[in-house]
Amino acid sequence: MNTPSDVGEFELIRRYFQHHEAQRDDSHAQRGVVLGIGDDAALLRLPEGTDLVAAVDTLVAGRHFLPGTAARSIGYRALAVNLSDLAAMGATPAWATLALTIPSANAHWLQEFSDGVFDIARQHGVILVGGDTTRGPLTVSVQILGSVPRGAALRRGGAKAGDVLAVSGTLGDAGAGLKFAAAAPGAVDRSGARAAAVDALIRRFDYPTPRVQLGLAARGVASAAMDISDGLAGDLPKLAAASNLHAHVYVERLPLSAALCTTVSEAQAREWALCAGDDYELLLAASPANYPQLDAAARQLNLTLTIIGELSSGSGVSWSAEGADYTPAASGFDHFGQASTQITV
Ligand code: ADP
Ligand code: MG
Repeated sequence: MNTPSDVGEFELIRRYFQHHEAQRDDSHAQRGVVLGIGDDAALLRLPEGTDLVAAVDTLVAGRHFLPGTAARSIGYRALAVNLSDLAAMGATPAWATLALTIPSANAHWLQEFSDGVFDIARQHGVILVGGDTTRGPLTVSVQILGSVPRGAALRRGGAKAGDVLAVSGTLGDAGAGLKFAAAAPGAVDRSGARAAAVDALIRRFDYPTPRVQLGLAARGVASAAMDISDGLAGDLPKLAAASNLHAHVYVERLPLSAALCTTVSEAQAREWALCAGDDYELLLAASPANYPQLDAAARQLNLTLTIIGELSSGSGVSWSAEGADYTPAASGFDHFGQASTQITV
């Protein structure tokens, strides 16, 4: 690599990524790490009878997070969004690799960043097994690897006509948080109870909570799953298309948090719930017969699950609110599309 400034490349890797206290040898053995950071590549052993599940996501400064975002949040989020993809497959996360591009090797920034990465890694038993470090515009790319019993992965295409559609948690919070964080100082009303609500929403953007345990519980119960990263209006059509079905959503059923409803109108809250993205909640399809089992599993995890609609034969997605047709204002985030709703810096 091209060594970033003051701390040398090897010292940087050693200090911030290899010898972090979360990377202990006993957890290595438990997670099938034959060889971790330090050689040309990692050697990893999958549990018997499993499929390898792999996903990668890149966060670019100014594109996926605001310039000046806390390094801890950047590290945390980079792994969280990948964990969310594994959750959507019903997979058990095990290992991650990290490609880090930084303009300079600032010790404080690196410490905060690595604390964020290892905070969420520890919560989910993920071992960092390798990576790459280069100098350039701040970009963080994490690859996550995990496993699922052979043939048991959840997919987008497994739903059946008659299935209900459900989402975990609440929608729109992170999108609202990003908009508040990006607003000019003083532009967001923080009077009274709104101050705590605004902070809570910004935290939802900075520190997503991937629903890994729910994904595991949904295996063999849900018929299809995906995570909501680009907004329900952008993501649901993908599940409907993969399952060759029509999806209908009752917009008045969308789960909205108290924090969101404290800060904006219901109409605005609904729009952000549909279009703003960055929720990292799970969208699940299940037969009406299986749904109670899914709901019970969510309850055990202290998570709410809300039925928002259903699937039927046909194609495409339709929306209604209080019985009338509804059209989401934007259809979710598409990096190369016209209707970009995400930060422009
Ligand atoms: P190579 O040049 O053979 O690709 P490097 O010198 O770039 O190897 O890296 C040395 C070791 O450190 C490798 O095991 C690599 O996976 C690991 N590594 C490099 N950067 C990071 C990082 N940001 N996070 C975790 N591991 C890293
Ligand atoms: Mg090499």
